[in-house]
Amino acid sequence: MFLAGCASIYDGGKSEPVPKEWSVTNKVVQPLPPKANSTVRPGIHPFPIPVVQTNLPPKKFPAAPILTWTSLDRWAAENKIAAPRRISNAAVTAYEVSSAHGRMILEIGSREAVWNGIVLHLGFAPEIIDDQVFVHGLDLQKNLEPLLLDEPLAFGTNRVLVLDPGHGGANVGTHSLTDGRFEKEFTLDWARRMKILLETNGWKVFLTRTNDSEVALSNRVNFAEAHHADLFVSLHFNSAAPDKIQNGLETYCLTPSGMPSTLTRGYSDLWSDHYPNNAFDVENLQFAVRLHAAVLHTSGEEDRGIRRARFMGVLLGQRRPAVLIEGGYLSNPRESGKIESAEFREKLAEAVANALK
Ligand SMILES: [Zn+2]
Repeated sequence: MFLAGCASIYDGGKSEPVPKEWSVTNKVVQPLPPKANSTVRPGIHPFPIPVVQTNLPPKKFPAAPILTWTSLDRWAAENKIAAPRRISNAAVTAYEVSSAHGRMILEIGSREAVWNGIVLHLGFAPEIIDDQVFVHGLDLQKNLEPLLLDEPLAFGTNRVLVLDPGHGGANVGTHSLTDGRFEKEFTLDWARRMKILLETNGWKVFLTRTNDSEVALSNRVNFAEAHHADLFVSLHFNSAAPDKIQNGLETYCLTPSGMPSTLTRGYSDLWSDHYPNNAFDVENLQFAVRLHAAVLHTSGEEDRGIRRARFMGVLLGQRRPAVLIEGGYLSNPRESGKIESAEFREKLAEAVANALK
């Protein structure tokens, strides 16, 4: 629902010039249609984004959104991987397609897929046409190919990671159902623990805030730019208050152009929008999967999946892979109890650090 999530508590917008956490950072974001090349024009965002030419192959930047549906059998054959096979004992009609990198399960009529055991939200539900599975071309390009076909991520040395502890200062985030402490405190502690661990793994780590201060979303993006970050990870905890039942882990990355988001939270979701961070669609998903799987396995939380959103100000202006992790629900009594524990936050930090080894 519109007010759900960790943005619901912050009401500083009345007197503060700082944008509401998670929101887009200006009132009107003009859609920038997908372009044949990857040059990013300055001026469409409220923060300066220098013109940049990335060196990614042009196939990643279609001149127009891909609207075609493709037979999964044909796609698998063209890419020389095993033909999809129906999973006979599934409760719903489901198909599996696999490669040397892993196994993707697609359910007919559902936007939820499962990649190597973790939930991945697609743009469009696969369909059966003439007894064949058809998948939207954008899902093939943006969700299946990066995982099934592309080489997995590898990390060099001296890579720069900017960690973004959500909220801060008057922007407190949500609060724990159990002890009332604010989200901003837990995100900062998680980031500090992660920094210590990651620096022993060869990462250079910078935090967008190191104390209880309020930092505008645009300045978090500018901070990553100034530090030449190779990767940006924003850390949050969730809320569905007054619902106490909802629980689990979510990891977000920017919605690819031409695709509907998983979550819009009442903001307009213009499919044709193309943001600087869309140049990193492949890496975004690969990072999201890597981090999500690690935190999920460590925390034992329910899997709410890898999700897509367009309204998150800390993601869309990034000129580097960027993900946002919602590390559990502070509105759920069981999960808030865990998040309050320093031992649990250390485990969450270890999970992310191990995932980036
Ligand atoms: Zn938050």
